[in-house]
Amino acid sequence: MKQNGKSVYSGIAIGPCRVFGNKDQMVKRIKIEDAQGEIKRFLQAKEQAKSQLAALYDKALNEVGQAHAMIFDVHQMMLDDLDYVESVTNMITAQKINAEFAVATTGDNFAEMFAAMDDDYMRERAADVKDISNRVIRILQGNDTAGELGDQPVILLADDLAPSETVQLDKSKVLSFVTRRGSTNSHTAILARTMNIPALIGIDFSEEADGRMAIVDGQSGVFILDPTEEELSYYRKLQEKERDQARLLQELKGKENVTKGGKKIQLYANIGGVGDVAAVMANDAGGIGLFRSEFLYLETQDYPTEEQQFKAYRTVAENMAGKKVIIRTLDIGADKQVDYFGLEHEENPAMGYRAIRICLDRREVFRTQLRAIYRASYYGNIAIMFPMIISVDEVRQAKELCHQVQQELQQEGIPYQQVELGVMIETPAAVMISDLLAKEVDFFSVGTNDLTQYTLAIDRQNPKLDSIYDAHHPAILRMLQMVIDNGHKEGCWIGICGELGADTTLTDTFLQMGIDELSVSPSMILKVREQIRNSSATA
Ligand code: PEP
Ligand code: MG
Repeated sequence: MKQNGKSVYSGIAIGPCRVFGNKDQMVKRIKIEDAQGEIKRFLQAKEQAKSQLAALYDKALNEVGQAHAMIFDVHQMMLDDLDYVESVTNMITAQKINAEFAVATTGDNFAEMFAAMDDDYMRERAADVKDISNRVIRILQGNDTAGELGDQPVILLADDLAPSETVQLDKSKVLSFVTRRGSTNSHTAILARTMNIPALIGIDFSEEADGRMAIVDGQSGVFILDPTEEELSYYRKLQEKERDQARLLQELKGKENVTKGGKKIQLYANIGGVGDVAAVMANDAGGIGLFRSEFLYLETQDYPTEEQQFKAYRTVAENMAGKKVIIRTLDIGADKQVDYFGLEHEENPAMGYRAIRICLDRREVFRTQLRAIYRASYYGNIAIMFPMIISVDEVRQAKELCHQVQQELQQEGIPYQQVELGVMIETPAAVMISDLLAKEVDFFSVGTNDLTQYTLAIDRQNPKLDSIYDAHHPAILRMLQMVIDNGHKEGCWIGICGELGADTTLTDTFLQMGIDELSVSPSMILKVREQIRNSSATA
């Protein structure tokens, strides 16, 4: 049986299915006599659940980083929430019922309440309150075996995967993730990317799929349950071909990014958070060319504190062990909305109140971020770049703030290092004044995603215009040449961090134009390296 879903990561998996148990536990209502004893059982189970979550926090911190580990902190807090605890204990006392049933009912009630709220963040908490309730119930039932997958590697089928579940999984036993719900930015998608295994969302399966053979084609988003012999042999061949290609690319690890003509460039990776660093290292990137710092803000329910940000930046800098880490300052607004910023609805958000415009307006938010970055600079090789620049004045204001932050840290005796400063070139205005901007900074990074949108006047989010959104347009390539020439005249180095940087049909063109750095998604590093090594561009 063949179904189409949405791919969140490519690759092919063939193997038995395992329907993963975030099904709600069967909980019976039982009359009890000793309400106090039952409350004690609940409180003990709650404490045990909290220590499990504390252990999960530590595990997640090591495996996927602080931003993703945070959820286990939230879960611990939810377990201590007074309303939640009182609801359970009151139910036990008033109705003389067993703790399992009181927890299950409270979990359902709270989840329903969250789900009905007019706020995306709160709606997502519905899954969390079910998750913590199920954990307590499992402990009460002495049935604490979530996360066991058996001996054989499996294709994991789930309704949705909660972070607490994925973290507990023995990753060596998972061939692929397939879920009914979830989004391309969900935790599952991030994990699949990091683990380099195919993942699909939007696949409807029945519980009976458990134990049956299936194929996941992460390239085309296809899921085949009970494949025919023909399908199996077709996909086995395809899988072998992919493996051969991947093996060949692996041989490029540790090799230089140098053309046949002797031109060397830097090949860096784009990341959204601490969790992506493992993939950066696995693919042998020379550094991080774009750390989209706004993901730290998207994952939290309130402004991330200086301390939270410092920890994230420091972890990345330390893990990269002296390799360059370019942190792009907050680029919120337009397609990246966060409720707590309280941004007003705009007619034209892509051209609206976003990125550096917000940062220069809400100075405290910017200052907090810059302090966190400068503090982290002491622990590695950090650089800073500013998004959506249209004027020299914006750059000067941003630099002035950097200067103030350094002075403050100095006065406070907090160590930091000098960092390279750069601007993203992603507006036509920035291109046209790149000769002036080059006098202000150390480097440029061309954001071709937005540069294409603004130059061609094509909303990058509008699927109707996909066919004419042409990043190869001569206007874009001419602009790129102009930026490279203007930058070089003032001693700046120039990179590309937009998606076009990973377009291997243009690698040779970029090299001929004089590009110094390309920053691409981790999984594209070795493919781009292959192209560079095939190019004859000269130094
Ligand atoms: C770009 O615009 O090319 C870019 C890299 O930034 P983002 O995609 O995050 O807007
Ligand atoms: Mg951009």
